[in-house]
Amino acid sequence: MTQTLPPTTLAEDEAVTFTSELIRIDTTNTGDPDTVVGERAAAEYVAEKLAEVGYETTYVESGAPGRGNVIVRLAGEDSSRGALLVHGHLDVVPADASEWSVHPFSGAVQDDYVWGRGAVDMKDMVAMTLATARRLKRDGITPKRDIIFAFLADEEAGGQYGAQWLVDNRPELFEGATEAISEVGGFSITVKDGVRAYLIETAEKGIAWMKLRVRGRAGHGSMIHDDNAVTKLTEAVARLGRHQFPLVLRPSVREFLQGISEITGLAFDEDDPEGSVAKLGNIARMIGATLRDTANPTMLNAGYKSNVIPSVAEATVDCRILPGREEAFERELDEILGPDVEREWLGLRTLETTFDGPLVDHMTASITAEDPGAKTLPYMLSGGTDAKSFAELGIRCFGFAPLRLPADLDFSALFHGVDERVPVDALKFGTRVLDRFLRSC
Ligand SMILES: [Zn+2]
Repeated sequence: MTQTLPPTTLAEDEAVTFTSELIRIDTTNTGDPDTVVGERAAAEYVAEKLAEVGYETTYVESGAPGRGNVIVRLAGEDSSRGALLVHGHLDVVPADASEWSVHPFSGAVQDDYVWGRGAVDMKDMVAMTLATARRLKRDGITPKRDIIFAFLADEEAGGQYGAQWLVDNRPELFEGATEAISEVGGFSITVKDGVRAYLIETAEKGIAWMKLRVRGRAGHGSMIHDDNAVTKLTEAVARLGRHQFPLVLRPSVREFLQGISEITGLAFDEDDPEGSVAKLGNIARMIGATLRDTANPTMLNAGYKSNVIPSVAEATVDCRILPGREEAFERELDEILGPDVEREWLGLRTLETTFDGPLVDHMTASITAEDPGAKTLPYMLSGGTDAKSFAELGIRCFGFAPLRLPADLDFSALFHGVDERVPVDALKFGTRVLDRFLRSC
């Protein structure tokens, strides 16, 4: 039975305004800590909105000046139950204004969308969270369990100056948290005949940047030379770039594909999941990347003069590895790269939880109360988020930033994309869902 709740009109309007205003605070994170701007201003904006309704806010700079984070707690009926962490990042990736149809930091509200960098990644969820947190406090609502709201710096560069720093240095801020929600999940895809499936993120592929290095003998470019580092490195890089890793169906991916086939009535072919995924339309590029490990060479570096054979050549490879595949991946690399290529890893963590339990039930109930007939399905994100840092604290992490999206919107292309935007109606929908979810979970 669907419970009727007091109207959330004010919170819904605030979510739209906050999304727009947060976009106007340029929080570009290039990955170079010296160039980061705006995180402190965004954190102060959030802290002020929370303090205004009576929250006691904690402001923390994570590892460097200006890397602002805000954390607040809302006490629940039963604090002995594990707390729920709702986290969102305040930073965004760069945007080149010349490519956009509106200025990326304008926060323009037009054509029923809020436009700008961060509209879906993830100032939308930050704004919905902020609006809902304010509504709960303003109306004196006590949730069932403690809720920790965290607004964070530096997700887009891996969280060393944000979530990861807080987990390493201030874990007490998250004390008692057993479960968490954040990006990238809770959005709808229209499967068939207007039936929407909301994809809840239960797993993340591991991101590992790998540096390859080959050493050879330096020499003159005019001579016969059989120990050329550039030749050896590029051969290895080409082998790796062309390699196709084996098909592996992780539980979250299998459950997703089975769920889709139940809704559509189209058979799911275990032997050809790529064929099944190809039928999914825009979302295929996201789901397709969760069927195998990938290793894409992205940078090459060697030499300093046209006629000098360098003694060292280096390459960087962006590897995305399925949960549980870490060791097998390394073994496969040994074979592909051979003994002459040294490698150095820059971080590797994967994530996977199950799609079950009371929290998942509450997500589904909150969605279907607002979108009757909708389904929820687990899925694996091919990228990574701050969830990996919080998982180190034993927190079970989900991507649940609810948005009901138009069937023809190519949502996955908006992430870090040009003309990033979010439907006003989706923000209002998401705020209603979050309101239901946070008071009941
Ligand atoms: Zn994000």
